[in-house]
Amino acid sequence: MKRILITGGAGFIGSHLCERLLTLGNDVICLDNFFTGSKQNIVHLMDNKFFELIRHDVIDPFKAEVDEIYNLACPASPVHYQINPIKTVKTSVMGAINMLGLAKRLKVKILQASTSEVYGDPEIHPQNEDYSGNVSCIGPRACYDEGKRLAETLFTSYHNQNGVKIKIIRIFNTYGPRMNPNDGRVVSNFIVQALKNSDITVYGDGSQTRSFQYIDDLLSAMTKMMATDDDFTGPVNIGNPEEFTIKELAEKIIDLTGSKSKIIYKPLPKDDPVRRKPDIRLAKEKLSWQPTTPLDEGLKKTIAYFEELLKI
Ligand code: NAD
Ligand code: UDP
Repeated sequence: MKRILITGGAGFIGSHLCERLLTLGNDVICLDNFFTGSKQNIVHLMDNKFFELIRHDVIDPFKAEVDEIYNLACPASPVHYQINPIKTVKTSVMGAINMLGLAKRLKVKILQASTSEVYGDPEIHPQNEDYSGNVSCIGPRACYDEGKRLAETLFTSYHNQNGVKIKIIRIFNTYGPRMNPNDGRVVSNFIVQALKNSDITVYGDGSQTRSFQYIDDLLSAMTKMMATDDDFTGPVNIGNPEEFTIKELAEKIIDLTGSKSKIIYKPLPKDDPVRRKPDIRLAKEKLSWQPTTPLDEGLKKTIAYFEELLKI
């Protein structure tokens, strides 16, 4: 049994990871400041004697004796990470420094939940790990994109300079149950709007693309990545290469929910990436991993979750 620290453990991805690692027989410490996460996401784990919840902000140093660290703390939705951009940068950068310091002292592996946003508005398609990205350092997404890029720099530097055992995964758009219904991300927004028969808000003309990965596929990649040999540090893309336009996603969700909603068009946010699709050859080779959940199947499970949630 390993004792595993998960920062951001009360969020969408973090809560599923807590559950998965407990199921695999580990002792889990979930650390969160509840900025975008909630106790509701982990309430079903509270009775498990191998689960521990700690309210803490990663910008402050933290000490514990653990065997592995997954660093997920950071708001992921553009709406939330832009509310307080300075705090977003502090969370990514100071959070990385504090957790890397802990990993260094304990000599344990640490995995960073990085993002496809390090590629910004990409000029190459699909994006592979060698592409260095097209990111504005002063735009509205910079606090998140540059924060995550600097976190990757810190991880790499702690590895090169201090021999810290690092793992960097670049996560592409992931969706599933326990997304916050108000966090503004496209899958949760469209499903909630469709279930309420409200207008579906497509930003721009809806021709921009994203590749959507179901949460279960991400979880298996995360644990596989953590289990790789110390010499494989990443970064490695983790996502589903099936690419859809945002308009196609809206139509699919209307269809799957049987909604009466109409699509309306709103202004495209500044610096919104035009196309995004992961090249996952490295993940296939190094992790023997590829996503197995088709979009329709994952959306059905996510819709069922929001149907229950909206009843309350
Ligand atoms: P989320 O907002 O649901 O979860 C983030 C969690 O971090 C929340 O529980 C929040 O309260 C916590 N948090 C934020 N700031 C904190 C701080 N200063 N101290 C302690 N806790 C803090 O988002 P998510 O979708 O679960 O994303 C989790 C991680 O995965 C993030 O690092 C995100 O950047 C990364 N990621 C997610 C996606 C995606 O599509 N969901 C894509 C790429 C990367
Ligand atoms: N989007 C949209 N309507 C919404 C929310 C988002 O059209 O109600 C678009 C958004 O402009 C972007 C895409 O959907 O092009 C994905 O947005 P999200 O915020 O989920 O993630 P990210 O832009 O970080 O990939």
